[in-house]
Amino acid sequence: MPELPEVETTLRGIEPFLSGHVIREITVRNSALRWPVPTDVRLAEGTRVRRCWRRGKYLLVETEPVDTESAAPGGGLLFHLGMSGSLRICGAEDAPRKHDHVDLVLENGKCVRFNDPRRFGVFTWWNAPACAHKLLKDLGPEPLSEAFSGHHLWKASRGRKGAVKNFIMDGKTVVGVGNIYASEALFMAGIHPARQAGRISAVRYDALAAAIRDVLGRAIRRGGTTLRDFLNTDGNPGYFARELLVYEREGKPCFQCGAAVKRKVIGQRSSYYCPRCQR
Ligand SMILES: [Zn+2]
Repeated sequence: MPELPEVETTLRGIEPFLSGHVIREITVRNSALRWPVPTDVRLAEGTRVRRCWRRGKYLLVETEPVDTESAAPGGGLLFHLGMSGSLRICGAEDAPRKHDHVDLVLENGKCVRFNDPRRFGVFTWWNAPACAHKLLKDLGPEPLSEAFSGHHLWKASRGRKGAVKNFIMDGKTVVGVGNIYASEALFMAGIHPARQAGRISAVRYDALAAAIRDVLGRAIRRGGTTLRDFLNTDGNPGYFARELLVYEREGKPCFQCGAAVKRKVIGQRSSYYCPRCQR
């Protein structure tokens, strides 16, 4: 599943092809994505892309009228890659492959193409301001932003009886901490994934916030190194070649103490941890 680093890598891959360019046409071959693609997406036709950015795992393409006299509403397009989605750059005339559901055709003949075999992805329109959109308005801070800190986690967790792993994977707490990165960050911070969120000290949350930044930052940098592959239009974004400390290492020795890494299902997701290093 594409996680925040892969989405950031995708953003960096498509942004130079989109920003400043005019969208000639939106082609929807299959509108049965996670939610039906609304006809509003056509509002983007004939507009210029002002900028592209990411909020959590949502990719936003902000558009503006080419003719500044026109009163087209401010807004743009929104993608979510879901479980299996990807975006690639190709020529508008290139024959679509299986599962190529959406094209953003640009005036220069290039095309941003959305492929999603499992169709849990999202493609929709948003009206400005984006932060008011129903999918975005309740999102917590970006993990690599100033707004995210150990203090934020500590404050938000008071009175919370659930497992800390579920707490940090909740997009209302902080966005983009998926299952892999949650397991890795909790190991780095020495915190047991099933520990009650409300009973963890401020000092330990400082360590956890630093670990989340570190693991996501490294993954994004690794994604960046494979960006050239992504642009080779083979359709495969250069997913982070992961160097994982505990994730999917059940039974293998902990890199820190040698104890066997354990697996436990928390919130219906597999969690990996060292029973000796994490308390
Ligand atoms: Zn250990």
